[in-house]
Amino acid sequence: MGTVINVEIWHEDEYQGRALIHSVMDEMRRIDELMSTYKPDSELSRVNSGAATEPVMISSELFKLIEQALEYSDLTQGAFDITYASAGQYYDYRKGSKPDSKLLAEVLPAINYHHVRLDAAHRSVKFMRPGVRIDLGGIAKGYAVDRSISILQAAGIKNALVSAGGDTRVIGSHWDHPWKIGIRDPRNRNGIVSMIPLEDAAISTSGDYERYFEKDGVRYHHILNPGTGESPHQVHSTSIIGDNATDTDALSTSVFVMGVTKGLELINTLPDTEAIIIDDRGRMHYSDGLARVIQ
Ligand code: ADP
Ligand code: MG
Repeated sequence: MGTVINVEIWHEDEYQGRALIHSVMDEMRRIDELMSTYKPDSELSRVNSGAATEPVMISSELFKLIEQALEYSDLTQGAFDITYASAGQYYDYRKGSKPDSKLLAEVLPAINYHHVRLDAAHRSVKFMRPGVRIDLGGIAKGYAVDRSISILQAAGIKNALVSAGGDTRVIGSHWDHPWKIGIRDPRNRNGIVSMIPLEDAAISTSGDYERYFEKDGVRYHHILNPGTGESPHQVHSTSIIGDNATDTDALSTSVFVMGVTKGLELINTLPDTEAIIIDDRGRMHYSDGLARVIQ
């Protein structure tokens, strides 16, 4: 997944505890094998290379996650869109390269989640036009965290923290206190702007500082506005708190694209969901539920 995995659990027995951590890591690897776009033989790569030609049969697991991703597209009026990758595939953040404006204009029409058709009866996926690519990078880590928590819960674990990059979920508490998750300062590698106490909840942060390069004073980072195929600059980071990491992951990416006003408007309509947004001047904005607590 190209990120750091962190697992903390309490167990009476050290040996069994370690074995459980291993099962969580195995699950992370399994999901990565399934959904990586870097691995040419992953199930998702098979979809990307074949679905524009004919329907591709997929596992029910991948089917459900794509289905959920499409629901987020509807909910966010297209801010969350896994077909962002139709343009996203031409960015290379390590090499610092991006599509030129001619290529971008050519591939932009392929970004639209309506091009992705799921057929539940045949459990297949088809792309309705050539050039469409999907990437689950905005939701798969949250999903992997939720799967990991399920494994731990099934094994009787009551207190745990699992994180994959910016996506974290906790169950129970940490030495009888809430778990505390730091929100990083988007412009200072070692700085924390806020510590959030959490019990039985998930938090995801999307930022413009993890994967990016700068060219001619413009920051090109890994979240793209599906309308333009380019990175939005209105905010520096968005953190979403909710009950599960699949939702908070998809929502943090979505709110990053939507910006402060529209993003908070959406979050304020969702039950048990809160947001902390740091804008392009470093100011913090809170959803209604958090604003009440902070006052
Ligand atoms: P991180 O990967 O650091 O946890 P995010 O959860 O915000 O950060 O996910 C960013 C990833 O989401 C990108 O690397 C890319 O794979 C994917 N992505 C980028 N833009 C969009 C978008 N508009 N809709 C859905 N997914 C996106
Ligand atoms: Mg996300």
